[in-house]
Formats: sequence, C-alpha cells, structure tokens
Amino acid sequence: MIIGQILKTKPRGVTTAAPGDTIHEITLRLTSRKIGAIVILENSNVVGIISERDIIRLIAEHGAKALDMAAKDGMTRNVISCTRECTVDEVMETMTNGRFRHLPVIEDGVLVGIISIGDVVKYHTAEVELEVTAMRDYLATG
Ligand code: AMP
Repeated sequence: MIIGQILKTKPRGVTTAAPGDTIHEITLRLTSRKIGAIVILENSNVVGIISERDIIRLIAEHGAKALDMAAKDGMTRNVISCTRECTVDEVMETMTNGRFRHLPVIEDGVLVGIISIGDVVKYHTAEVELEVTAMRDYLATG
C-alpha cells in the first residue's frame, strides 16, 4: 500500500503554524485538533515541525516562559518527509530510524498531507490481516 491511498481516507488539509506563532498558540491548536505535531510553514515552504515532545522539552528547559517562545525557537528544522508514492513499509522504516511519529507528505515542494504512526500501524495491521487470511484460505483449499 502507498501513502497516497491512506491520504485519500483522511480529512483534507494539514494543521500548520507560522515560525512566529507562540508555543502557547501551538498547544491550543494541537489540543483542539487532537493531534501530536504541527508543521511550520513560511511562504508555503515547510521550514520545521513541532511535536508534543518538543513542547515538553521546552517546558523542562525554560519553565512557563516556554509558552511565550516562538515556534522557530523550538522546532526541528531538518524535516524528513515522504511523497504519495512512498510505501507503508518505507514510512515505517523512516519513522523507526528517525525515532519520530510524524511524516509530512510533500509533492513538488507543496505540503499535501501528514502521516502519523497511528495511520501507519492501522494500515500495516490491515495488510498483515489480509495476508494471514489469504494464507489460511490457501492452506485450507490446498
Ligand atoms: P514525534 O515522535 O513525532 O513526537 O517527534 C519526536 C521528535 O522528532 C521531535 O523533536 C520532533 O520535532 C521530531 N520530528 C517529528 N517528526 C519529524 C520529521 N518528519 N522530521 C524530522 N523531525 C521530526
């Protein structure tokens, strides 16, 4: 299965923020959308990503002042992404190697979606179940 197929099943659009938005604004957006990471865009280009983990780190380092800091001061700048053509297996490997749970999907420089570990696990499990069913049928029918 490829990422483009998963994106078709998800609501359109990606929650984003600007480099100057505060961490407090970002926590509100993460909470209201029930998501774990937000992509930072500048002039439509992906310039960073902030996840719950970054916010915890900022609070550990700066205390309550972290909430007034700008996204650009807490985001990860080297964003790893995938395309619609990437497979679920490739994305799982990228997330495992990079130790992160979110992967923006970028096509011709344009952010077209985001895949989370939750999406990947759901579709990987479905694929494995299909394989098991096919093998059981094969064994049963000879
Ligand atoms: P996560 O597991 O997604 O909550 O993120 C763990 C750490 O990896 C945080 O510091 C994130 O900013 C960073 N991170 C998350 N997704 C990506 C990504 N696609 N590329 C690079 N860093 C990322």
